[in-house]
Amino acid sequence: MRLPDLIDPLYCVDKGRRWRGKISLARMTRLATMIVNPEASAMIDLTFFREGRVAAVTGSVQATLVLTCQRCLEPVLISVDQPIQLGVVTSIEEGEALPEPYEPLLLEEEQIRLGSIVEDELILAIPDVPRHDDCRMLKVEAGSEEKDRQDNPFTVLANWKSKH
Ligand SMILES: [Zn+2]
Repeated sequence: MRLPDLIDPLYCVDKGRRWRGKISLARMTRLATMIVNPEASAMIDLTFFREGRVAAVTGSVQATLVLTCQRCLEPVLISVDQPIQLGVVTSIEEGEALPEPYEPLLLEEEQIRLGSIVEDELILAIPDVPRHDDCRMLKVEAGSEEKDRQDNPFTVLANWKSKH
């Protein structure tokens, strides 16, 4: 499905729209400056509907974000798979009155970028200081570089191949 760049969320709510597909991370301008792979895409699945007084947007966003490890400067991959549960509101007061579990999606204009609905959720997944959990620089610091080389699965595979 080809996704639109701009949507009118309240119109989508009235029509019961569902948008499902890939959306370029480059279209999320704040996020794009924070990651190494803006050329990648996020998978979104968003359903717009009315539940009582709430103009709801629910679904999920999935993406793999590539950041730079602040220890070794190599890429760090972060997999994001987040549920989305938003209520479209046009004022802060309306947002405060939203029932659980909805978070406010504050509309400042009639149309918004579809990507902006999930952009905050992706930004929230980015740690303040991106680092590998098991960074090789930590092992170097601990003086166990030699052991690391022996345990490296690729070295093991190379040894195995040379024997067969
Ligand atoms: Zn690292």
